[in-house]
Amino acid sequence: KESVMDGVNFEDELPAEALDKSMVKSAFEKLQEDRKTLPIYAYRDDLLQAIDDHQVLVIVGETGSGKTTQIPQYLHEAGYTKRGKIGCTQPRRVAAMSVAARVSQEMGVKLGHEVGYSIRFEDCTSEKTVLKYMTDGMLLREFLGEPDLAGYSVVMVDEAHERTLSTDILFGLVKDIARFRPDLKLLISSATLDAEKFSDYFDSAPIFKIPGRRFPVEVHYTKAPEADYLDAAIVTALQIHVTQQPGDGDILIFFTGQEEIETAEEILKHRTRGLGTKIPELIICPIYANLPTELQAKIFEPTPEGARKVVLATNIAETSLTIDGIKYVIDPGFCKMKSYNPRTGMESLLVTPISKASANQRAGRSGRTGPGKCFRLYTAYNYYNDLDDNTVPEIQRTNLANVVLTLKSLGIHDLLNFDFMDPPPAEALLKALELLFALGALNKLGELTKVGRRMAEFPLDPMLSKMIVASEKYQCSDEIISIAAMLSVGSSIFYRPKDKQVHADTARMNFHTGNVGDHIALLKIYSSWKETNYATQWCYENYIQVRSMKRARDIRDQLEGLLERVEIELMSNSNDLEAIKKAITAGFFPHSARMQKNGSYRTVKHPQTVYIHPTSGLAQALPRWVIYHELVLTTKEYMRQVTELKPDWLVEIAPHYYQMKDVEDSGSKKMPRGVGRASQD
Ligand code: ADP
Ligand code: MG
Repeated sequence: KESVMDGVNFEDELPAEALDKSMVKSAFEKLQEDRKTLPIYAYRDDLLQAIDDHQVLVIVGETGSGKTTQIPQYLHEAGYTKRGKIGCTQPRRVAAMSVAARVSQEMGVKLGHEVGYSIRFEDCTSEKTVLKYMTDGMLLREFLGEPDLAGYSVVMVDEAHERTLSTDILFGLVKDIARFRPDLKLLISSATLDAEKFSDYFDSAPIFKIPGRRFPVEVHYTKAPEADYLDAAIVTALQIHVTQQPGDGDILIFFTGQEEIETAEEILKHRTRGLGTKIPELIICPIYANLPTELQAKIFEPTPEGARKVVLATNIAETSLTIDGIKYVIDPGFCKMKSYNPRTGMESLLVTPISKASANQRAGRSGRTGPGKCFRLYTAYNYYNDLDDNTVPEIQRTNLANVVLTLKSLGIHDLLNFDFMDPPPAEALLKALELLFALGALNKLGELTKVGRRMAEFPLDPMLSKMIVASEKYQCSDEIISIAAMLSVGSSIFYRPKDKQVHADTARMNFHTGNVGDHIALLKIYSSWKETNYATQWCYENYIQVRSMKRARDIRDQLEGLLERVEIELMSNSNDLEAIKKAITAGFFPHSARMQKNGSYRTVKHPQTVYIHPTSGLAQALPRWVIYHELVLTTKEYMRQVTELKPDWLVEIAPHYYQMKDVEDSGSKKMPRGVGRASQD
């Protein structure tokens, strides 16, 4: 009987299968031909031999040579996946997704089957997956469940030159497991030539160089510094567009972030409209981390004949993604970079000049398929005298609390002697330990507590995880995970079109009735949407981004699953706003601030002047005491996502952190207590 069933199934499926294959065949064959034109292809056999011969191999090759897309496929073809998965880490989410999509096409399989990706809150893999692209942060988290990475036969730490925090920690961890897993192959791949450093770190691992094809790039500098680089970039792009043959090549402009890219897109659209019909079409393609997936693919589509593409990208196009056909690069010379002050524990994202290494990577993007041109919107003097040679690794300029919690959960206690390629400042490590102790994640001996173990289950910053764990006590886990999910989506919840700003603002303020604070407002938004059975129409009516809400729902679902894992019951306490605010305080008590006479605020520990962000629902109300989610530095140091607080809660919830005299309302000057005692800037 079974064979009959099989036969029937086969008959049924045959036409669809046959149709599929014949339809995609030519495209598929074309992809196979393209694979063979990549610089890495000529080294396929040598590379496989080198991997066979050595446990650890450092691989260096220019961006676009085929490292990320080809090496995992070569290994698969050579049979490595019979012994376990091949994991390939990427510093950026977009790169992990887009590369996985590309490789699945090249292999002719459905994304998520043999080839998949895993990024925070989004797992697109299955039982079948053998090539797994993931963010470096996700592989770090996999160590928690599988400390020897037993499921993997090869781990490729890709884009190693980016030196993200997670990549740097991974170096230490994979180096360690390679010692007791001789069958595990370790590949460290990088786009730049400082490979010696990687080789030294991995006990003189051999370096495999993939010679790239590089065409000459003509570099142009401005005569004087540009006051408005955004405008200068647009003018330069339009100049190229109207004076150069369109078939001749596309343009890539580097901006610092989404906002800048959106502004540039708008201006470009406006100005090209005025150019008349004689000028060829200019196709504008933005690319940044939060760009919806369906729009990301657009940058890879071949430019139609007679038109020109201009790609507006963040740093992501520096080395993570290769866009074919770029001939002109416009480089304003800036990027957004995290900086961290270990004294105050404050982290900010600042627009900063790039390094020489970055500038050269950017220029190199124009010379991949033919001679290119790079227009630097700064002077040659700036380049030679003002830019640093290399970007400081993230580990030396970031808050380490999250990483320290992860390492502690992995049983790594002696952090000062962890095998860092470049150690973080001792002060930053201490600050992280201090915070985790204050949150109750570590005890006095620096050991993980039960609270800490639960916190580590959540792929969130420790303060958010603590807020969730604390919600058990206040019996409001249901509300708190909604708030956590909404906070994780970020600032893109509200939709504020230029011509309807007043309407949008009114809609937004509706959720703030009663000055409930931003956290509760986020909760109200989520609950109201849920009540409409997640209706899209409701989002339109309330000027809320549907996409962000769907993402929040996804994240919330996952947090709900994690609650179950740490055995916290899902409990709703929606009428008791005070309980909810107390749970928030239990995570965010280090972020408290008190109003000053002039309407500014002073953070309670490590006093610093800050302001309520103008988009906050409390921007007018100015409560005496607040707790904030994060600080962002734009024109001023702003607190974003603010909720009113009763000062006694601080002493009630965090007695080890605050004393009565910290929160007394008298005007007398207080000395900051504890470590980090310092000037009252
Ligand atoms: P490397 O990792 O060495 O920088 P990649 O393997 O990422 O190189 O890229 C090799 C080639 O694959 C690129 O030149 C590009 O043509 C193509 N490619 C990579 N990603 C994509 C994508 N998402 N869509 C279309 N083509 C892609
Ligand atoms: Mg790559």
